[in-house]
Amino acid sequence: MSRLRVSSDDLRRVFEAEVGGRLSAGQWVRWLDAASVLRGQSFRNVVLIRLQMPEATWVDGREPWQERGRMVARGEAGIRVLTPMEKAAGGRGASRRHDVATVWDISQTDGRDVVLPPAVSAVEVMYALAKVAGELGYGVRWGESADGIVSRVDRRRRQIVLSPGLDPRGAAGRIAHELAHLRMHKLPSGSGCCGLVELEADSVAYAVLARYGCVVDRSTSERLAAVASVVGSRPPARLIDAIGGRVVTAAGRLAGAAERHMESKAVPMRVRSTRVETDVQERSAEQDLGLSL
Ligand SMILES: [Zn+2]
Repeated sequence: MSRLRVSSDDLRRVFEAEVGGRLSAGQWVRWLDAASVLRGQSFRNVVLIRLQMPEATWVDGREPWQERGRMVARGEAGIRVLTPMEKAAGGRGASRRHDVATVWDISQTDGRDVVLPPAVSAVEVMYALAKVAGELGYGVRWGESADGIVSRVDRRRRQIVLSPGLDPRGAAGRIAHELAHLRMHKLPSGSGCCGLVELEADSVAYAVLARYGCVVDRSTSERLAAVASVVGSRPPARLIDAIGGRVVTAAGRLAGAAERHMESKAVPMRVRSTRVETDVQERSAEQDLGLSL
């Protein structure tokens, strides 16, 4: 985006044009990938940042970079994002109006090294999410269920029940999925998981796991790739705006809650495109699956 004056209306139009276009199989997942890396950014800003600098991994304003001992390199064009306008003194509720802010990616800055916290294993993610479930009053246990269902919520016993066939990554993804339902959806007991609520829960699970370099189970990936079967191949921009906003907010909160239970309390900085299938401790962890989480 050029250095010409850009208004919040301009950015909104760019966002709507992007999310209102044809929804390809990979597009939704690419936004989720970007959201998992660009911590603390709204869905709208994730889309805008991705458009302006697809390889961005960590963006912030000039001053926060300076506080970390890094300077924006001379000549680097900033990335324009939307920021909520300050509420007028005494104003009630959140302002719905936005201003334009300029941020820069870490690759556009020079200076002191930033310390990247240690990587978090799938096992650690799984246990941290189980502890978040515990905070909501839900235990997590392994148990067979009918019809090949990989996870379910037993509301009567207040338990998230996982299929014993899941590996730690799969288990982490399914706990995140069920936590997304518990936090976002008021599902009547016994109701099936399908349509929009399934898409939202799958998307939250994907974004949370992607943050730690883990991948969700294959069936979740396949459903996400088929997002257009739920929302249509040309969904209205406001629908994608609404779902994306809910998912990105929920994923950020869930990851934040999980990180409070991670030993390293890490905020892992994942370099883009290194989302590989790690098999850290998977076999040994599987032997622990008999434990009550
Ligand atoms: Zn579900």
